[in-house]
Amino acid sequence: MSKKLTISNFKDLQVNFAGELFYDNSAEHQAQKLIYSTDASVYQEKPIAVAVPKTSTDIQALIQLANEYQVTLIPRSAGTSLAGQVVGKGIIVDISKYFNQILEVNPEERWVRVQPGVIRDDLNAFLKPYGLLFGPETSTSSRAMIGGMIGNNSCGLHSIVWGDTRTHLLEAKVLLSDGSETEFKALDKKSFYEKARLSTLEGHIYREVHRALNNPLIQESIENAFPNKNLTRRNTGYALDMLSDNEIFQPASHLSFNFCKLLAGSEGTLAFVTEAKLKLLPLPPTETALVCIHCNSIGESLHANLIALKHHPMASELVDKYILDFTKGHHEYHKNRFFIEGDPQAILMVEFMADTQEQLTQMCNAMIQDLKEAHLGYAYPIIRGADTKPAWDVRKAGLGLIRNLPGDTQPVNLIEDCAVAPEHLPAYIDELGLLLEKHGLNASYYAHAGAGELHVEPMINLKTEEGKQLFRTVLAETAALVKKYDGSLSGEHGDGRLRGEFIPFMMGKEVYDLFREIKNIFDRKKVFNANKIVDTPPMNEFLRYEAGKVPNKVETIFDFSKQESILRLAEKCSGSGDCRKTEVTGGTMCPSYMATRQEKDTTRARANILRQFLTNSTQNNPFNHPEIKEVMDLCLSCKGCKAECPSQVDIAKMKAEFLQHFYDENGIPLRTKMIGNFTKSQALGMNFPKIYNFFAQNTFTSRLIKKTLGFAQERSLPTLGDITLREWQLKRLKTQAKRQKNSIKPLNFKASKIRKQGKVYLFCDEFTNYNDVELGKTTIKLLTALGYEVHIPEHIESGRTYLSKGMVKEAQKIAIQNVKLLAKALEDQSPIIGIEPSAILTLRDEYLDLVPPEYRAEAELVADNTYLIDEFLAQEIDKKRISSDWFTKEKRLIKLHGHCHQKALSSMIPTKKLLSLPKNFEVQLIPSGCCGMAGSFGYEEEHYETSMKIGELVLFPTVRQQPQDVLIAAPGTSCRHQIKDGTGRIALHPIEILWNALNES
Ligand SMILES: Cc1cc2nc3c(=O)[nH]c(=O)nc-3n(C[C@H](O)[C@H](O)[C@H](O)COP(=O)(O)OP(=O)(O)OC[C@H]3O[C@@H](n4cnc5c(N)ncnc54)[C@H](O)[C@@H]3O)c2cc1C
Ligand code: SF4
Ligand code: SF4
Repeated sequence: MSKKLTISNFKDLQVNFAGELFYDNSAEHQAQKLIYSTDASVYQEKPIAVAVPKTSTDIQALIQLANEYQVTLIPRSAGTSLAGQVVGKGIIVDISKYFNQILEVNPEERWVRVQPGVIRDDLNAFLKPYGLLFGPETSTSSRAMIGGMIGNNSCGLHSIVWGDTRTHLLEAKVLLSDGSETEFKALDKKSFYEKARLSTLEGHIYREVHRALNNPLIQESIENAFPNKNLTRRNTGYALDMLSDNEIFQPASHLSFNFCKLLAGSEGTLAFVTEAKLKLLPLPPTETALVCIHCNSIGESLHANLIALKHHPMASELVDKYILDFTKGHHEYHKNRFFIEGDPQAILMVEFMADTQEQLTQMCNAMIQDLKEAHLGYAYPIIRGADTKPAWDVRKAGLGLIRNLPGDTQPVNLIEDCAVAPEHLPAYIDELGLLLEKHGLNASYYAHAGAGELHVEPMINLKTEEGKQLFRTVLAETAALVKKYDGSLSGEHGDGRLRGEFIPFMMGKEVYDLFREIKNIFDRKKVFNANKIVDTPPMNEFLRYEAGKVPNKVETIFDFSKQESILRLAEKCSGSGDCRKTEVTGGTMCPSYMATRQEKDTTRARANILRQFLTNSTQNNPFNHPEIKEVMDLCLSCKGCKAECPSQVDIAKMKAEFLQHFYDENGIPLRTKMIGNFTKSQALGMNFPKIYNFFAQNTFTSRLIKKTLGFAQERSLPTLGDITLREWQLKRLKTQAKRQKNSIKPLNFKASKIRKQGKVYLFCDEFTNYNDVELGKTTIKLLTALGYEVHIPEHIESGRTYLSKGMVKEAQKIAIQNVKLLAKALEDQSPIIGIEPSAILTLRDEYLDLVPPEYRAEAELVADNTYLIDEFLAQEIDKKRISSDWFTKEKRLIKLHGHCHQKALSSMIPTKKLLSLPKNFEVQLIPSGCCGMAGSFGYEEEHYETSMKIGELVLFPTVRQQPQDVLIAAPGTSCRHQIKDGTGRIALHPIEILWNALNES
């Protein structure tokens, strides 16, 4: 009888545990358990606990606990497994936060030693200066970690040349199921038998594995059971074929024995990896070209693939029409469609690399010639160099993109990983198509054609009992088909709990029993990742969705009808983990994760927690759960996910909605009210700005204010201008009118030289009106000098402060009022332009979903005519209405940091264009994500540290490196404040830079 594991056992464990443990019933611990109950698969099971170990001793303590109480430990790195490998009722052991060091690199011998939490792309960024790379490349390479790649024996895009992880795993330091530490590495015969004589668990493993495999009949069974030798993608079961291929078991072989062959692909079921020594490859040739073979059918593209392979490409990958169609209108991917001609059913992307462009051209042309002769393909655009990246990004985002399908019938990972020898692919896919058709199923086909593995994703409704049954039937029938073609049920994604059930069918009982024996030899008590690969539960149990469950309808303030409902938007998260990118890989999503490296602070965690409560809550108000608040806490509402998540999971919108419902039940905290009502407080302060500023700046009083409100002492409070921008503009217009009446020269000499350009409405947002008044004045002066007639229309604040704090009802009132006021002004069709991205873009984004249907048309009119000032002026430059001749000819380097909302809803291209207008200005974009301030977030005492950490990722170090004569530009008011607090440098709004450039001319 096993002993029962209780909370007090975890408390005892915690005493000497250096990392973090989550096990009790508090909101924080429950939230952690919920977010770790899924990965990128369709499975969901709440773990007993979550552990984030810091040291190997921590893992050993967990192993001891697991042995004593017969629970299983589930090793986990990025959690992007597609077959439920890291889902289960055990203790999740997440090594991604602390085991992320690159320990040693040996360029001469071409190897690197790393901890298992090192991210594949980060490793390659580190290796680049050495001229080396770690070859295996999953589509998830921006977040997948070495531990997980070993666990799943991952490969990917360039696998036909660079192979899989197993081939590159030289040595591994592991903890065995009794907690003892050992190293797996190549052993000659003598060393092997020495190991087998040890009286430890390690000795037992060597002896018993030898006993189990050292039999010619068993070797023959293994040979017969495993797939066609031409098939390099073979990830079903334990790799006994690879483990047997050495001098110990094959007398004719000259290869050494190495347990790493078995460890790779063992899905954390045999040993816990704490270090890995990896083989490296020299960097490939620098010149790259991608031939995008446009085909009229999938079948045609697979025949084209066979011709392509004869030309020895680096990769041959397929994207079908399903995926291509989802890039249409997608914020991030629409621009990547530049290479598509017509309406292809499939595009085969064939990559070549060479030392010179001439060689490349020859290679591409030779293949195209052969394709034309075989009448395969109708267009063959060649993409070169850096342009190949956006095209590859479309291919890599395939899985996420097809998640944008509306409705409950969704693409499922089920038969996506079956592989056959490439020459069998056309026939296999033909038959598979018929099989799916028989069940009335549509499917998307994409990925690794060159390696004989297409990710085929049938669309199934797993929310119904029939769908659940179909889920199993399709895998069972496909398994038979794969077996017919001597293929592998899993090529790279592994078995997990999805395909495990069919391993006996694929491999035969004898070899399956051998797999069970191997598991038993290594881990008799099932300490490591029980019920994966062997003894898995039925594959259609523990699914994310309970068949037939109808969640309560949720009334929302925002309109979620475009995404069907708030729940459906949360459900869109496929778990792909794109939101676990780091600052090394770049992008904005997700700044909180980048700073903390905790799963809890990812977009995925936020979508998961919302999905689970909106589905299962028994409360009238399903948002009223502190666990959701816990996970939302570090979301900066930066909107990075709205643009960068392939499934467009817009957490900023869902977070605001959640907070409003949470406040409805629990009241609005004082600080939240103060921040939401920021504009009102500033308006009040304008009655006595000098006194207000004194209190804000005086050391004693500002300390007191910050302490009372819960703001970080390190921050400076915003101060007021001595006049509001509106008042200044009014006065200015009056003076101008008087001057005109008296025929006095205009206020700005430029205005007299430049022709009249027309009227613009300047949206006088609350930050510019009260705080950045000087910037507002500069904007008006610049526009006037450029010939524009500037009007500030009647409107009220933007509502941004309410939105960022989740006071959505207040924001809604503002949206309605502004839409009515601005739509009226727009009768003359002049554009509305704004200086502060977070405020002006609210008119284009949130307002559309906030106003009730009766104001919808007006909201759309306003949105359609609203521009960032950068966008407006860039358009005017394009129309040649603004000339570079009017500006200085001085040389200047400008480093530009983009505002998150601008990056998500617009782009930085207009700002770059604007700042590049003066002839000798050079603009370089800082590859920063979010600055970390995000409105009030960086002010808040408990968020200050995270805010500064985010700034330190890329922005602060880049700014600090710049000589004083380099200008720092940042369109966002929060960003400028953050740059000042983090680096002491003053960043300018692009408009200020342009104004100075005009005056210097
Ligand atoms: C959109 C998408 C695209 C994908 N494309 C590819 C692709 O092109 N090629 C490919 O091969 N895969 C692909 N995958 C699958 C997945 O991304 C890879 O298998 C990836 O390598 C897993 O890495 P991870 O860090 O997320 O591992 P996890 O999912 O965290 O873990 C994977 C396995 O490794 C085990 N493990 C983790 N750490 C350890 C450790 N320290 N010791 C022992 N065991 C450990 C786990 O228990 C688990 O069984 C894709 C997945 C998605 C969602
Ligand atoms: S939130 Fe988006 S990026 Fe993150 S895991 Fe989900 S689908 Fe992927
Ligand atoms: S809004 Fe920003 S911080 Fe929040 S989940 Fe999305 S990317 Fe992360």
